[in-house]
Amino acid sequence: MVDIVVITGGGRGIGAASARLLAGRGYGVCLSWTSQREAAEAVVADCVALEVPATAVRADVASDSDVAALFAAAAELGTVAGLVNNAGIVAPPRRVEELTRERVLRLLDVNVAGAFACAAEAVRRMSTARGGAGGAIVNVSSRAAVLGGPGEYVDYAASKAALDALTVGLAKEVAAEGIRVNGVRPGLIRTDIHASGGQPGRVERMQDGVPMGRGGEAHEVAEAVAWLLSDAASYVTGATLDVSGGR
Ligand code: NAP
Repeated sequence: MVDIVVITGGGRGIGAASARLLAGRGYGVCLSWTSQREAAEAVVADCVALEVPATAVRADVASDSDVAALFAAAAELGTVAGLVNNAGIVAPPRRVEELTRERVLRLLDVNVAGAFACAAEAVRRMSTARGGAGGAIVNVSSRAAVLGGPGEYVDYAASKAALDALTVGLAKEVAAEGIRVNGVRPGLIRTDIHASGGQPGRVERMQDGVPMGRGGEAHEVAEAVAWLLSDAASYVTGATLDVSGGR
């Protein structure tokens, strides 16, 4: 059976780059999408062209039934051996005193509770203590978890700090069950997420402040994701790798 990696939000940006890279390395991929079906299907077509099994499922990570359906679709393709907890949202720039409870809860629901739900499904399927064959999880955090997102989105930064805690705690919880759990913290990466948060051109505006003097590309994050998922990282767990050009 082919090893399948579930990639939430795999139709665009970092998730799509990860899907294409992993497919090129022989993994089957099961992507989720919520709003951009065609984008996800284009990624699936690219993966199938690389002769691996691939599918895309409409699944909101904030819905437990959607998450269950996503993993069931993955299991139809092969052995679920990996999860990239990539789906994430930002919101328009606001100071903390302007944040509403509704906005904060939505960010936590998608970025944190969604990642927990997917991690739980992955562990239930991969844990050797439950008859699984082991596997690896990579959580896509953000440098914002450390930098704090002042004046923009401290709520988003806090959601990513929670994800970093999930990485550390879950890594220890399942280390003896054949599952490694790691994270990546991207810096300023050129994807649609900035426009979705009302800040098109954010990377160009801020890239002079990056020590390497440029924004990053999705494939540069995907390389770190793929390494952490792979056997080359066999003794790495509970780690979070910054992919941020020094930011
Ligand atoms: P993106 O291009 O906006 O892609 C986000 C993806 O998440 C899309 O595929 C989207 O699906 C999916 N998604 C959104 N809400 C979802 C939900 N409720 N359930 C399931 N999927 C959902 O963003 P990106 O930059 O690649 O971001 C990927 C991850 O990297 C995020 O966790 C983000 O926080 C993190 N990150 C990005 C940067 C950066 O500078 N780009 C920096 C640090 C961290 P649809 O395509 O169907 O809409």
